[in-house]
Amino acid sequence: MPKCPNCNKEVYFAERVSSLGKDWHRPCLRCEKCKKTLSAGSHAEHAGKPYCHNPCYSALFGPGGFGRGGAESHKY
Ligand SMILES: [Zn+2]
Ligand SMILES: [Zn+2]
Repeated sequence: MPKCPNCNKEVYFAERVSSLGKDWHRPCLRCEKCKKTLSAGSHAEHAGKPYCHNPCYSALFGPGGFGRGGAESHKY
């Protein structure tokens, strides 16, 4: 039984989503930054952690990231 990389519990077939070459619980596949639930295969990744493409990955690691889209309403 594969273990979920997020919570380290076993992942049963019915609740499994595969992404980044690992098996996750559906609710565990979520952005490390904003905690939004992600769809397998349509999200970004950094150091094995899932992120949404926008705004999180772009803001954190994107090309020229800092400053790009800086006018958005996200403030931390
Ligand atoms: Zn999990
Ligand atoms: Zn995010």
